[in-house]
Amino acid sequence: MADTFRRKMTAFEEVNWQYGKAAGLLEIPEAHASIMRNCYRELKVQVVLHRDDGRIEEYFGFRVQHNGTRGPYKGGIRYHPSVDMDEVRALASLMTWKTAVVNIPYGGAKGGVNCDPKKMSENELQTLTRTFTRKIDMALGVYRDIPAPDVGTNAKVMGWLMDEYGRKHGYSPAIVTGKPVALGGSKGRESATGLGVFFIAQRACRDFGVALQGARVVIQGFGNVGSWAARYLHDAGAKVIAVADAEGGVLEERGLDVAALEAHVREKKTVAGFAKASPLPKERIFETPCDILIPAALNGVIHEQNVGAINARLIIEGANNPINPHADHILAQRKIPVVPDILANAGGVTVSYFEWVQDLYSFFWDPDMVRTQLQRTIRHAYVDVESSARRHDTDLRTGALILAVGRVQEATRIRGIFP
Ligand code: NAD
Repeated sequence: MADTFRRKMTAFEEVNWQYGKAAGLLEIPEAHASIMRNCYRELKVQVVLHRDDGRIEEYFGFRVQHNGTRGPYKGGIRYHPSVDMDEVRALASLMTWKTAVVNIPYGGAKGGVNCDPKKMSENELQTLTRTFTRKIDMALGVYRDIPAPDVGTNAKVMGWLMDEYGRKHGYSPAIVTGKPVALGGSKGRESATGLGVFFIAQRACRDFGVALQGARVVIQGFGNVGSWAARYLHDAGAKVIAVADAEGGVLEERGLDVAALEAHVREKKTVAGFAKASPLPKERIFETPCDILIPAALNGVIHEQNVGAINARLIIEGANNPINPHADHILAQRKIPVVPDILANAGGVTVSYFEWVQDLYSFFWDPDMVRTQLQRTIRHAYVDVESSARRHDTDLRTGALILAVGRVQEATRIRGIFP
């Protein structure tokens, strides 16, 4: 293991390293494993944007389909300056494993554009989205590849994507999930990832002896995932004591007033400057002693340099791939349990699946139905992951990957692709 960590791995290498651990335990033949360490289809497209002030800017857009054995490719679209092919590959392969962990009939994909949506007008954002959609159109399809929101995109962006796709293909609401409800989106999709994190927190707290009532919670990221997770945990009696986002952080040992913090963020676009808490440098978020730590921002944020400062009893990965393998290893040695991304944040893709189902039969569920089905799916997945980890005497991440890799391998074999 030390050898692997001598040089910094890329995000895709990190995910493949985790995959390799599970594949090794399952004794998957190398010829099969090497196929799973690559992606089925990769698109890189030039996206030229005419800014409102007349300037012309060039971005690059990506859509990567990792594996489609269990169903259509599925995965979000990220708008962030750091987006590149390696990151998109990593996130696409995580989607393959995530959809398999929650046992929904999808493969894995991801996409993105290396732009900064915070510096763009709404008109520019819409133009960029429509251009990007046209450029990746040939890879999409209601039964082929179905995008969704991710960092820097939201329901409005998905609505534009659906509209642009529909210009060529006709009315196709099932081409994208995470749309506004008025366009065929599912009730409960916006809060689904945070609600899934909450359901996981309930189960994991019970298993690892942490009382949820009064638990001190620290969250990195207060966007879609972080803010909804904070709200559900707060409503269940936990104390969200610290939150950080890209601009800064806040701390209140007695527990933040989450509703007031949400109102502040709606107005200021950041948690920084929230009057009912003390400022906290965003770099110090992981040092804050807590019971539950939830990274819910970007990948690779917990690494060998900062893992030693973590003082938490339980970590729940709201973000995708937030902990690198080196830090993961150290956390395991320190006996700090980690609930992995492919289980903990699967609530979003699960309700995306419900949305797709509703769009396909044009009949829509009420919020209780969405919540009940989400809870059922996440709880089943938790139990499956926990028993897989126990059976193989390993951690939850490896247990989840063994479950997922086994399901994909089985589907591949039954299809007649691998003997
Ligand atoms: P978002 O864009 O709504 O929010 C991202 C948050 O992270 C913001 O608060 C931003 O300020 C913060 N952030 C960015 N850089 C930061 C930094 N350097 N330090 C601290 N905070 C920083 O994105 P989201 O949809 O909430 O996604 C967050 C994570 O969850 C991503 O890893 C995403 O892939 C994952 N995820 C999202 C969903 C979903 O349904 N939205 C589903 C599964 C996984």
